Amino acid sequence: MSRRVAVVGGGALGVTAARDMAVRGADATLYERDEVGSGASGRAAGIAYDAFAEDVDAAVAERAVERFRELDAEGAIEFADHPYVWFARAGDERHADAVRESVERMRANGRDVELLDAAAIADRFPAIASVDVAVAAVARNAGYLDPKSYVRAMADRAAAAGAAVETGTKVALADDGTTVETPSDTESFDAVLVAAGAHTKRLLAGVGVPIPMKPYRVQALATGPFDGAGAVPTCYDATAGRYARPREGGLLVGDGTQEREFDPDDYDADADPAFERASLDWLDDTVSTERGESEFGIRRSWAGLCTATPDRDPLLGPVESDLFVATGWHGHGFMRAPALGERIAEAILGGDGIEAFDPRRFDGDESFEVVEGMTVEE
Ligand SMILES: Cc1cc2nc3c(=O)[nH]c(=O)nc-3n(C[C@H](O)[C@H](O)[C@H](O)COP(=O)(O)OP(=O)(O)OC[C@H]3O[C@@H](n4cnc5c(N)ncnc54)[C@H](O)[C@@H]3O)c2cc1C
Repeated sequence: MSRRVAVVGGGALGVTAARDMAVRGADATLYERDEVGSGASGRAAGIAYDAFAEDVDAAVAERAVERFRELDAEGAIEFADHPYVWFARAGDERHADAVRESVERMRANGRDVELLDAAAIADRFPAIASVDVAVAAVARNAGYLDPKSYVRAMADRAAAAGAAVETGTKVALADDGTTVETPSDTESFDAVLVAAGAHTKRLLAGVGVPIPMKPYRVQALATGPFDGAGAVPTCYDATAGRYARPREGGLLVGDGTQEREFDPDDYDADADPAFERASLDWLDDTVSTERGESEFGIRRSWAGLCTATPDRDPLLGPVESDLFVATGWHGHGFMRAPALGERIAEAILGGDGIEAFDPRRFDGDESFEVVEGMTVEE
């Protein structure tokens, strides 16, 4: 008989795991309290690259980008190939050293990344030529996509493979965690995966399983269109802690990270005016394309929650024998979801997980400070 598995959470991780388990013959049910993609995944910037310094992260990210490209080839999503540039500004030696070191380690892992000096940046990326760069790096296996399009495509594929996709269904766990209580029913499963984003800790606490994870708030905005926006590389300014990528003729700008724990049921999902002002100042200072008479205008801005762990690595694997968790992405959960969802699906069905991400490396009650994930420093 096929293994009956429940997935709680219809974000990028949950839909991928549900689809991959259904394809492998499991009897999978995905529960989502709202619509699929209504959590962090629908708020993500949709940036993806394989430029990671740790070998395990690099392999995961490479597989994820490969899956994005496969879906693009099938016409299910649009993955825009676009270089990812990260840089430290002149005078910021700490981050400049970290950029140099990260590139060395990425290259040792076989990543297609290259160090660039100020002249090379000006030559290759004139749209950010006005930045006084100390050192920059470029990753070529990179791009961006609409994150909701991925979640919808994977949810559709999960359903096509036979998974039940129950949206508008907020669940709680009961007994040893393999019983799921919906508003109308109670169902027992052979295994349960909790991929409920910022709510994951709260759900597991309901069955007495502690995990060391804290939700923290990050922000983003989209500008209106302007000439030359498409020539801006996806970029991360390590000195300013801000990033951008082209979006619908304008730019999407992000960060505004608040390094403290937020309540997933009570946080402000709108961006702060101070974040908006600082982002526009940063754009003025960073993007050197012709913008005509007009300044950058804000089309939309928002905030969402990312999830932090004590060592900045994910919690991916079993917390009890048939109760699994998938969270703790430090702002890099969307770009890795196609691979991490695949790996947790395999682990639940008896295959290998990722040892470095095994949640049982922690007791669950560790105290720790939230440190943001968008950084070049280890
Ligand atoms: C502004 C912003 C920009 C970002 N940019 C990027 C980026 O460019 N690249 C990148 O890799 N990452 C990015 N991230 C991080 C990324 O969004 C997350 O790491 C990733 O989407 C998390 O996916 P998930 O499936 O684990 O969680 P989520 O997408 O949060 O999904 C969890 C789901 O569980 C559901 N749920 C919760 N409780 C219950 C319950 N009791 N019953 C049923 N369902 C429940 C929620 O409704 C939600 O849909 C960004 C995040 C933000 C906020």
